[in-house]
Amino acid sequence: MLKYHKYFDCAPRIVNTNSTVNVTIKPLYDHCRLHDDQDYKIALFPVSGTFGQTEVLDAERVMVKSKGGIITAPLKFDSEQEHNLLLEDADGKLIAQFAIFALDEDLFDLRPYKGDMHMHTNNSDGVESPAYVAASCRKVGLDYIAITDHRAYEPSLEAIKSFEGVDVDLRMYPGEEVHPPGNPVHMLSFGGSFGVNEFFKTPEYEQGVAELEKELTFMPEGVDRHNYASCLWVYAKIREAGGLSLFCHPYWIFRNKYDVPEYLTNLLFEHQPFDALELISGYFIHQAESNMLQVARYYEERAKGKKIPIVGVTDSHGAEDVGLFGWYYTIVFSKSSDLRDLIDGIKGLNSVAVEALPNEQVRAFGPFRLVRYAQFLIREIFPIHDELCVEEGRLMLEHAAGNADASEELSGLKGRVKKLYDRMWGSDN
Ligand SMILES: [Zn+2]
Ligand SMILES: [Zn+2]
Repeated sequence: MLKYHKYFDCAPRIVNTNSTVNVTIKPLYDHCRLHDDQDYKIALFPVSGTFGQTEVLDAERVMVKSKGGIITAPLKFDSEQEHNLLLEDADGKLIAQFAIFALDEDLFDLRPYKGDMHMHTNNSDGVESPAYVAASCRKVGLDYIAITDHRAYEPSLEAIKSFEGVDVDLRMYPGEEVHPPGNPVHMLSFGGSFGVNEFFKTPEYEQGVAELEKELTFMPEGVDRHNYASCLWVYAKIREAGGLSLFCHPYWIFRNKYDVPEYLTNLLFEHQPFDALELISGYFIHQAESNMLQVARYYEERAKGKKIPIVGVTDSHGAEDVGLFGWYYTIVFSKSSDLRDLIDGIKGLNSVAVEALPNEQVRAFGPFRLVRYAQFLIREIFPIHDELCVEEGRLMLEHAAGNADASEELSGLKGRVKKLYDRMWGSDN
């Protein structure tokens, strides 16, 4: 479809089902001017098609007039799905076409937030500083992030500190990748109020694991029990810190075998001691098989009736030229981008994992209802969102480089994404 939204301001584009919505179409430039003394036609048809009305030609037309060069049409959207709005002249010649997504109340009341909660910096095996990585995240269109270095909680705080007192819309939260000694399972804390890695040096950890091990009587004796008990201990500790705990890259193939032995993966899927699964993890192109296995496993577990919260992450180790950075992300549908709302959104199964490889079609994975909506957002709304983020990210990088003027310029840009979303959701009037 032609990018008509570049010529016209059509709003709202996300609407509530079963209510009449005034959709306005306002030309932005001279080449698409509307004339008050001419008739125009509007047609609306749902993407699912309706019996006998599957062709654009069959859709019912309503006559409209422009007022002051702007068309306002009261439209009703019957069911939750994407709709096409056609604007034609009196002879039926197409002037513009817009996609509008109608949502039921529960989802309509939420907003989509793009984020990555698994990234490394030069504090572990990554390339750049936490401030550089954070700023680069805004540049690629993320709304929230956490730096999660191996065995280190501090770098995530350093990222937050680097932008203290600066008006940025990117939300930065604490995090860490957690590696219990001898345990092959990588776990991650998103938003925890304290670091969990610290505890591995204390007797509290070994004692806690020994206690848990005794309760695992359904498992055969041996080393298996210990590693699984260690996972249980870590996941509980992350929860105690108020964080979201992740089961990281379960099908990562390292040295020709799964890094997590499958009996452990099976146990983790069976009992789900973690909060969310990395459905799409940070794999390079030649490792695509690992993401495919994770997706296949997820859908199979879901078919058994399991409820599995999901995220998509990059596990990136550098924002420039290394790869992975910006390739994957999570969309959380939540009330706000506050930590609590994001975590509740993910745990409440209101998230999808997204694969956005360079020069490839973007793909979302997760529950059907959310994937269908996410694909609309990815195609129609996020490109506008991401464009706003580029400039903010660039200025965040300048601030990180010590440019004293960047902070004031960022203040001038504050709230632009919110303003865009208010207009797209029709909550600006
Ligand atoms: Zn890892
Ligand atoms: Zn990692």
